[in-house]
Amino acid sequence: TKGAAMVTAVASRVQAQRKQIDKVLALFQLTREQLLGVRDKMRAELEYGLKKKTHSLATVKMLPTYVYGMPDGTEKGKFLALDLGGTNFRVLLVKIRRRSVRMYNKIFAIPLEIMQGTGEELFDHIVQCIADFLDYMGLKGAQLPLGFTFSFPCRQTCIDKGTLVGWTKGFKATDCEGEDVVDMLREAIKRRNEFDLDIVAIVNDTVGTMMTCGYEDPRCEIGLIAGTGSNVCYMEEMRNIELVDGDEGRMCVNTEWGGFGDNGCIDDIRTQYDKEVDDGSLNAGKQRYEKMTSGMYLGEIVRRILIDLTRQGLLFRGQISERLRTRGIFETKFLSQIESDRLALLQVRRILQQLGLDSTCEDSIVVKEVCGAVSRRAAQMCGAGMAAIVEKRREDQGLQHFKVTVGVDGTLYKLHPHFSRILQETVKELAPQCDVTFMLSEDGSGKGAALITAVAKRLQQPRKD
Ligand code: BGC
Ligand code: MG
Repeated sequence: TKGAAMVTAVASRVQAQRKQIDKVLALFQLTREQLLGVRDKMRAELEYGLKKKTHSLATVKMLPTYVYGMPDGTEKGKFLALDLGGTNFRVLLVKIRRRSVRMYNKIFAIPLEIMQGTGEELFDHIVQCIADFLDYMGLKGAQLPLGFTFSFPCRQTCIDKGTLVGWTKGFKATDCEGEDVVDMLREAIKRRNEFDLDIVAIVNDTVGTMMTCGYEDPRCEIGLIAGTGSNVCYMEEMRNIELVDGDEGRMCVNTEWGGFGDNGCIDDIRTQYDKEVDDGSLNAGKQRYEKMTSGMYLGEIVRRILIDLTRQGLLFRGQISERLRTRGIFETKFLSQIESDRLALLQVRRILQQLGLDSTCEDSIVVKEVCGAVSRRAAQMCGAGMAAIVEKRREDQGLQHFKVTVGVDGTLYKLHPHFSRILQETVKELAPQCDVTFMLSEDGSGKGAALITAVAKRLQQPRKD
């Protein structure tokens, strides 16, 4: 009959559409071999970055941090800390006394026109925020030591100098690349001519995170950020760090692994959507691994896939809305909500509605699947990278078995319902001889900067005892 024929026609159309959707999702499903490939290529890039001969061309920069060890619990005092480069900009007052740390902080917005204005404007704004904070805390005249958590790649020659290699994430202020950002901060403080601060240390957020966890767990010697951006630091043997003289002891290396793949070595697993996201970013061609694994970009990958599926008539009744054309609509918090297992599909639809996307129930299923595929791949790739790090550390120490703690921070790790689990499963799978514990760092950037400042301050002063 006619009715039955129509039903069959609809069913086969639905089937054909499903096939098209699955084809797109499959691009994000990495095989075990592909993940092993990511691990092994990452391992090779770590070595290139450390070696004098290959360093200048390496995509994983392996920057020395001049942080030699963990705090030992004797640190004390009052410190200011700045935290720039994550989801928020913060100024903190950190009080450390007999292993207890108290913190007071204020969050400030950094308007887009300042993130992407001139360097002077950016640092003037930062100093303005410090002034507000000191006022607010009633500390106007105080001359406190300051630790600056600056979450971008910096080439350091000591703990209080850092030349910006290049902006990442959403920043693009002019006249900063190649400059010492500590000097820029000092100059801005001078320009304001209202207070004096003793800038003791510049610290990457990964290092602050490692330090904070190391304060509680002596096994912690790796710091991971899975947030707006993605990066890892770890304690490396001095003898392996060819850029720094001396063979004794260890130093923390900021890997800047976000640049992994910038030489094309993972192009085999990058999709057309990854390329579109890269092309549309502030730093096209750079930070390719970061763009597949961190919060600032995952939502963008999702959006590009949804646009393509809609164009193919597989979503939103084939209508690409103005909203869907808008960059940055899928923040980490939305992805996290959409993927939450406790959420009914109706609620997924409601979230999409909030984002201005009118969806049917079928649409919301597909959107959820797309989010799942993108974030799963991110967690697996991050896990493959981490497997390279812990395996290197195990081999370098000649161990059969290596037990280690990784301090972690970042919105993706903290907010996403599956990211942390998949990351951990992947590390286990790809580094079976390592026993890796992930430890969430509460406010690693701020606390860690203060701890590093405390240690640096102690080493600065001639010991009285
Ligand atoms: C930066 C790193 C930082 C990471 C996490 C990356 O974009 O290059 O320095 O650690 O983001 O914030
Ligand atoms: Mg941060």
